[in-house]
Amino acid sequence: MKNKKITRKISQGVYVLTTAGGGCVVDAVSQISAGDNPLISVAVMKKNYTNELLHKNDKFALSVMGIEVNVEIIKTFGMNSMRDINKFENIQTIEVEGVPVIEDSLGYMVCEIIDKIENETHTLFIGKLIEADLYEDSDVMTYAYYQEHKDELLKVTTEEGKTAWVCTVCGYVYYGEELPDDFKCPLCGVGKDLFELKNN
Ligand code: FE
Repeated sequence: MKNKKITRKISQGVYVLTTAGGGCVVDAVSQISAGDNPLISVAVMKKNYTNELLHKNDKFALSVMGIEVNVEIIKTFGMNSMRDINKFENIQTIEVEGVPVIEDSLGYMVCEIIDKIENETHTLFIGKLIEADLYEDSDVMTYAYYQEHKDELLKVTTEEGKTAWVCTVCGYVYYGEELPDDFKCPLCGVGKDLFELKNN
């Protein structure tokens, strides 16, 4: 492959996917059909607890994050697992069609799962839109915007005098001169190529 980095030019958003019992931050969301109840696809990492839940539940919701997002929402849903914490404890949600949705968002889409496609790393869930609302017609957080403003949004700080590798996806900090070749981010699962070197 000449340069795989071109795939980072695919425009994606930042959403909180929720389902009964859990949720996580996702970026790979597409509307894949038209009509009154369009189909929406979303890819969820297999190692996520949310993926397990989506194999049991029949619905999910996508809450759309704006650029003014309360970063605690992204931290809570993107950098933790329900295996360790209750993500709903400090984040306000309302229930729509039996699915918790994030109140502090631009709006939500609730979908009924109609199909699943498995690949090596992710499951692609395809849902039919059954309920939706737009709370606020303002600027949406794109994945590119998140990448560009991640440090200020997440307030990533690294200890002085130490060589640090920062995960460009979630902000996880690894201290050490070199990242092992097979290194995977313990928070979000991405590989070494998505870590950035920070020398203080
Ligand atoms: Fe990460």
